[in-house]
Amino acid sequence: MATTLPIVAFEEKIVETVEKNPVVVIIGETGSGKSTQLSQILHRRGYTKSGGMIAVTQPRRVAAVSVSRRVAFEMGVRIGEEVGYAIRFEDRTSVKTRIKYLTDGCLLRESLSNPELSQYSVVILDEAHERSLNTDILLGLMKRLVKSRSSNFKVLITSATLDGVKVSNFFSGCPILNVPGTLFPVEKLYSKERPKSYLESSLKIALDIHMRQPPGDILIFMTGQDDIDKMVSKLEERIQSLDEGSCMDALVHPLHGSLPPEMQVRVFSPAPPNCRRFIVATNIAETSLTVDGVVYVIDSGYVKQRQYNPSTGMYSLDVVQISRVQADQRTGRAGRTCPGKCYRLYPADVYNEEFLDATVPEIQRSSLAGTVLYLKSLNISDIDILKFDFLDPPSRESLEDALRQLYLIDAIDENGLLTHVGRTMAELPLEPSLSRTLIEANELGCLSQALTVAAMLSAETVLHSARSKGKEKKRKASSPSRLPDGSGWGDHIQLLQVFEDWDQADYDPNWLTYICCMIRSMMFSKDVRKQLSQIIQKIAKGPVGVQSGWSEKKGDQDYRKIRRALCKGYGNQLAEKMIHHNGYRTLGYRSQLIQVHPSSVLETDEDGKLPDYVVYHELINTSRPFMRNVCAVERGWVIPILKKLEKMDIKKLSGSSDASNGCEPIEDKEELPKKEANGSTASPADVDSKIQAARERYLARKAKK
Ligand code: ADP
Ligand code: MG
Repeated sequence: MATTLPIVAFEEKIVETVEKNPVVVIIGETGSGKSTQLSQILHRRGYTKSGGMIAVTQPRRVAAVSVSRRVAFEMGVRIGEEVGYAIRFEDRTSVKTRIKYLTDGCLLRESLSNPELSQYSVVILDEAHERSLNTDILLGLMKRLVKSRSSNFKVLITSATLDGVKVSNFFSGCPILNVPGTLFPVEKLYSKERPKSYLESSLKIALDIHMRQPPGDILIFMTGQDDIDKMVSKLEERIQSLDEGSCMDALVHPLHGSLPPEMQVRVFSPAPPNCRRFIVATNIAETSLTVDGVVYVIDSGYVKQRQYNPSTGMYSLDVVQISRVQADQRTGRAGRTCPGKCYRLYPADVYNEEFLDATVPEIQRSSLAGTVLYLKSLNISDIDILKFDFLDPPSRESLEDALRQLYLIDAIDENGLLTHVGRTMAELPLEPSLSRTLIEANELGCLSQALTVAAMLSAETVLHSARSKGKEKKRKASSPSRLPDGSGWGDHIQLLQVFEDWDQADYDPNWLTYICCMIRSMMFSKDVRKQLSQIIQKIAKGPVGVQSGWSEKKGDQDYRKIRRALCKGYGNQLAEKMIHHNGYRTLGYRSQLIQVHPSSVLETDEDGKLPDYVVYHELINTSRPFMRNVCAVERGWVIPILKKLEKMDIKKLSGSSDASNGCEPIEDKEELPKKEANGSTASPADVDSKIQAARERYLARKAKK
């Protein structure tokens, strides 16, 4: 099958162009073979001969795993040998690996320890049209790398829809190869108006197709996992109730990012004869994964998008309209094997007038703390965060927001220079708040607990369902939830207790079923915890208290140490209880009124008494601003952070006294004298040279007269 893919027909042209140019942009329809074939072509044509690997980045973990498995299968090798993948907390590569699929975040992390990426002869930035934050940063880094490694390094940027000219211009006019697709015509059927419930409409249309239209799979785009689950069960229910023999058999598959791998692969096996498949997917099926056999597409016109607002520090998870580019991609999924149909659940006017041309790049809707920390810790001499070469620059506001966050948790000093703590933080594959917590916990002697909390938070959905079930039970009957309650200190402590109890139960999976925890997520947490503990032992200076087991637990009934470490890590995520009010106010450089999320165990504490100070993992704006994952802290720990805040000067943080100027080059940092001694901003040498310059100008003017 691979030989029929459009990319393969272009092999000669591709190899010839790559041979002559350090950077090549390749644009081809989704399903043309960019992700699975390019790496194999370059491997066959000798690009891995001299020992270098081919890296292929993917913005999505699922895609990295699924595509690498496919390539291993096509090459007849076992995954992890010649072909492997690496995603956060999972590395399936070996010394044999020549083609390595990895998330863009993983490649960024690798470049921290090896800025030249010398282990790779080729880097393919795949799915560049997704404009993920990390791919955007990689674009900037590649631009530098091709200059320094010009002779033995090739960069390919591939995309289904990307504005090729823009990227080509970014790389000083590199060639663009267009691989023509083999799309069949797709008939677009618009709705007269937006339906009240896109779920109900999709359901109706899907069943209608099933009963009346010729064979062909149906791909339905939903906005998220919840809706997908609902849709899958409704579809199954309705299909069951159809008269036997009235239409062909049917299979319903969900497809989204948090699906276990064995469920994901199912989508790729073709339908059995005389059977129609319904694939209910997120926008992951737009371009990342191609499912063969689709003839009908149902497009709600919506996508769930996470957005960060730097002026409030708040996230929102909004269902927003897709862009025209996305709509066309979705439509294209119907025409891969024969002419198809796309049911657009919106009027043509909405498509033409309301949809944006293209999706807003992630860099313009994310918190940049992690990214700025990363850029600051790169060992690249002339990197300048505020002037970094971005394809589309983020707003100054969000860069400054990132600098403030990093300062409050000690990753950078008051002059915007990376600190020792910051350097260690960058090496941990965690968000800045959690890496800071681990470092503090190590000093306080509660690292073991902090590792658990960080691991549990990294396995996102661990307690999600258990918590809501617990709540439901509480409401319905008075049978108490079996989950530990965080001893009233909050959600982080609850997460910790769940894991500790599981440890006490010798990691018995049955124990998890008993408290309705998701087994898979808990196993994942356990694995993540182990990896984090290995990483921190490698990088942390001084004694590391990982092995101490749970001994702290008994002596530390109020979890004081771990809460204190959390307070340090969440230095920018503090809130103070409002007097005469059931809510909180965020502390920091912006003040917001917020509430504890109803799912929190903090709220269910005795008679509505809430602690005066809390830290939160996330601020999310749903029906109103909520703190999610909350932990009680003490006033005494908050005060030093507030003091720090008073000293904060954003001009200095961005590394200069002149706001239009960028940050201090990283390299200078090491040579700079320690500022604590005299506390003044400009070093004496600076002042001296300014006076000297002024004197020279004066003398020059005088001489002219
Ligand atoms: P592109 O990256 O250009 O969108 P891909 O290389 O991902 O295209 O896909 C090329 C072909 O390989 C498609 O027909 C797709 O169905 C098939 N394919 C990709 N991944 C898998 C997989 N895991 N299992 C089966 N087929 C796959
Ligand atoms: Mg692809």
